[in-house]
Amino acid sequence: MFRNLKAVGRILYGRNSFDQLGDVLGELRIEKDSYVLFLVDEYFQGKDFMKRIPLHTQDILKIIEVKDEPKTKTVDAIVAEVKSLRNGLPVSVVGIGGGSVMDYAKATRLMFTNEGSSSQYQGLDFIKNKGVHCTVIPTISGAGAEVSMTTVLTGPVKKLGIKGNFTPADQLVLDPALIASVPDPQRFYTAMDCYIHNIESRNGHRKTVMGDSLGTESLRLLEEIFLCNDSHSPENDEKLMIASYLGGLSLTYAEVGACHAISYGLATVTGIHHGLGNCVVFNQLEEFYPEGVKKFKEMMRINNIVLPTGVTANCTPEEIEQMIDVSLTLVFMWQHLCGPEWEKIITREKLRGLLLKM
Ligand code: NAD
Ligand code: ZN
Repeated sequence: MFRNLKAVGRILYGRNSFDQLGDVLGELRIEKDSYVLFLVDEYFQGKDFMKRIPLHTQDILKIIEVKDEPKTKTVDAIVAEVKSLRNGLPVSVVGIGGGSVMDYAKATRLMFTNEGSSSQYQGLDFIKNKGVHCTVIPTISGAGAEVSMTTVLTGPVKKLGIKGNFTPADQLVLDPALIASVPDPQRFYTAMDCYIHNIESRNGHRKTVMGDSLGTESLRLLEEIFLCNDSHSPENDEKLMIASYLGGLSLTYAEVGACHAISYGLATVTGIHHGLGNCVVFNQLEEFYPEGVKKFKEMMRINNIVLPTGVTANCTPEEIEQMIDVSLTLVFMWQHLCGPEWEKIITREKLRGLLLKM
């Protein structure tokens, strides 16, 4: 059976296209008392950028902390607060930020129309009702959340996406000027999330021509950016934003692999952020992705990136086993990499050996 996949609805694209957001939302503000819920990355608090947000008096704007990755309890709290402040539903939930804020927007919009806690819906196709309109506006590129069918949340028991046809955003604004302020090494780590998605998706059994074509172009752009000496130019910001979009789309038609399976385990115990965690893991995966890891190391060298070491050094043996447990639950990722006989290749011992090197 093939899934009838849902992609992001409309895309406004171009340098400074953000300034047309008022017109885009204007089309939705039909009733006199309609309002928009803006979720904005804490980086922008107090910055001039805030004045460019087309905020009407009845709108709600919340600054979102992103020190920790998105949590189901924060999603639930935002929805409860907004419901207590306004009678109707927002005409759009607008997420302005990185993967974290975009995922908050994608999850929050679903919880206005689905009962209970967002943690009940972690997994594939648990959402029953269409959410309210959602607009995502990336201000850092690589995660691919702007286009993906999932919103990754940490709940009381698991870190897992709410995934399905109701999850992709309705409106995307791709304005490369918005990512100019992202500092290194954060810019590199998030961009490498995209690089790793592309390498993982093309090296596996669920590879498709559609996924591979999108991923190949995304990889070409990333290599152009990070194998040159000036990765931070405006031209490269634009290429990075498009690489992230294509890489995110490519994943819809393939699957991630060993790096994401191991880094989910690593993050569950250490709380390490997704982009950085993936870099730390990928650096040790020559065995699975020899070409990809070689180029990754070259990109780190050219961009003066030094990864932290000893990430698992202070973990107890029990914690290492817990990481392995989480990693082994991601069966579809391992099947993509190794095929149906994956358990013969991916042993606890192999994973332990890799984790202890990080
Ligand atoms: P992020 O959203 O966590 O942001 C990283 C840092 O960059 C934050 O400190 C933020 O304040 C800062 N930042 C954002 N924009 C900035 C700007 N313009 N200038 C300066 N600083 C800026 O980072 P991310 O890597 O984009 O997202 C990671 C999250 O995305 C994780 O929670 C991960 O689980 C999730 N993710 C989701 C998907 C998906 O398909 N939904 C895919 C991959 C990752
Ligand atoms: Zn990722």
